[in-house]
Amino acid sequence: MHVGVLVVGGSLTGLSAALFLGMHGVPCLVVERRDGILAHPRLRGLLPRAMELYRQAGVEDEIVSRCPVGAPPTDLVSVHARTLSEEHEPLTEPEDGGADAEQVSPCGFVPIGQDELETVLAQQVRERGCDLRFGTRLTDLAQGRDGVMARLRGPDGTEETVEADYVIAADGASSPVRRRLGIRSSGPGTLFHMVTMHIHADLSPALRGRRIGMAYLGRPAPGTTLGPLDSTGTRWFFATAVSSGSSGDIASEDPAAWVRAATGLDALDVRLLEQVPGAGRIFTFPVGARVADRYRVGRVFLAGDAAHLMPPTGSLGGLTGIMDAHDLAWKLAFVLRGSAGPALLDTYGAERRPAAEQAMGQAYARALLRWRLPGHGGGCTLLPTSVLMYGAAVPEGAPGTRAPHLYVSEDASSPMSTLDLYGTGLVLLVGPEGDAWESAAHRAGQRLSVAVEVYHLDADLAGPHGLTNGSALLVGPDGVVVWRCDGRRGDLDGTLERVLRDLLCR
Ligand SMILES: Cc1cc2nc3c(=O)[nH]c(=O)nc-3n(C[C@H](O)[C@H](O)[C@H](O)COP(=O)(O)OP(=O)(O)OC[C@H]3O[C@@H](n4cnc5c(N)ncnc54)[C@H](O)[C@@H]3O)c2cc1C
Repeated sequence: MHVGVLVVGGSLTGLSAALFLGMHGVPCLVVERRDGILAHPRLRGLLPRAMELYRQAGVEDEIVSRCPVGAPPTDLVSVHARTLSEEHEPLTEPEDGGADAEQVSPCGFVPIGQDELETVLAQQVRERGCDLRFGTRLTDLAQGRDGVMARLRGPDGTEETVEADYVIAADGASSPVRRRLGIRSSGPGTLFHMVTMHIHADLSPALRGRRIGMAYLGRPAPGTTLGPLDSTGTRWFFATAVSSGSSGDIASEDPAAWVRAATGLDALDVRLLEQVPGAGRIFTFPVGARVADRYRVGRVFLAGDAAHLMPPTGSLGGLTGIMDAHDLAWKLAFVLRGSAGPALLDTYGAERRPAAEQAMGQAYARALLRWRLPGHGGGCTLLPTSVLMYGAAVPEGAPGTRAPHLYVSEDASSPMSTLDLYGTGLVLLVGPEGDAWESAAHRAGQRLSVAVEVYHLDADLAGPHGLTNGSALLVGPDGVVVWRCDGRRGDLDGTLERVLRDLLCR
């Protein structure tokens, strides 16, 4: 069997890669060794940038509709206190300080659990023709000049060899593929262990009428978090730091006592909910911070936690994996269909690795503050989340930043954003008097057999993009500005062709 792209790991990053590849018309095979989606508590929310990428793929509404606390969750409050019963305390982490989310994005924060999210993604990728196989493990991998031979073992033990043009290793923090490729990781390493569990408990005496999105509590350990699993007010996600991750040590603890300490309700009746039958009710994981030294060996690419691990502070881990998947998907699609040269794939690691190092540094600094660990801030200046996601607090069309978001249509039920112009191809935005650019883009596109869509922005939209008479802005499929030209000068055809050749490594 031959496939264009084999994705190893069918969790958040692997399923997102399959979704984005599908958006570009590239079918793929996804193998996941687990029998189904992991229901244990992990990611509890998606930042707006992740939702922007899912919006491009047409799954934003489906994800929001599966949000268990109801959507839009505008009345949820964040609580920072010693216990849930006590009054608000000053934050250990500084306020984000970024731009107003509504000002910079058509998407908001969506408090969805990773299991619900992956259920949506799995269904969507299958509907779009992806071959998603649960219970199937990659057991061996060998690279040749023209492809990768992958050995797979199916649920009934049968072995199969698949030949792939490219492999995405989205096989998690312990990535067997990364180890096999001999790629090392660098960073502070493991900080401590954390337990998470789902519980059933009536917390109304401590909630006092509040509808909470997330509570950050000081008991039984700093950085304890509690959040709703649904809108019943009785099913909760709970996480706290523990001194040891050994199962023997955890078994000797009393999980109900952790919850009573966190809520300040000494007589609280707490029931642990079963997540995965037979897989235990308490999930333990190391909180760590590291980034792989390389993202690529030959035709195999690391993505998601396989490439970078970071503490959950800041909700950046899953987002960084989703952004990897999106970046790699468009680059693989362009190379596979011959629109770009193979060297475009080298830009994946060159761009995504520094982004992961920055996100890891920020998550690590926030973790030191939240868990009150020594090494205040880790020597790193905290940046607003919007800067991490967009490259600027308020994007204004500078190269390397996400293009600005402005509403184009007034339709209140589904307003269209300028971000809806991006996704699968290259876009040239031109301001007033942009006709010459449009003709140049058409001719350059024809010569290179690459589609470049041109949009003329009126003065209201052109201004916030920094577009004046005769200027132009080239935006990539991820919505990031790759080039701008302030003023029409000289040989437009030649200029644009050079820019496209550089961008696509032609
Ligand atoms: C408690 C907690 C809270 C978090 N909160 C947030 C948050 O709020 N926001 C956020 O953005 N992120 C959060 N994260 C991080 C987020 O959960 C991870 O970044 C995300 O799960 C990474 O997804 P992944 O697909 O890269 O890796 P994983 O989820 O680890 O998936 C890797 C998959 O590969 C499979 N696999 C491995 N080897 C093979 C093989 N040989 N063959 C086939 N399959 C294989 C595994 O079975 C696994 O399913 C949190 C994490 C935790 C633990």
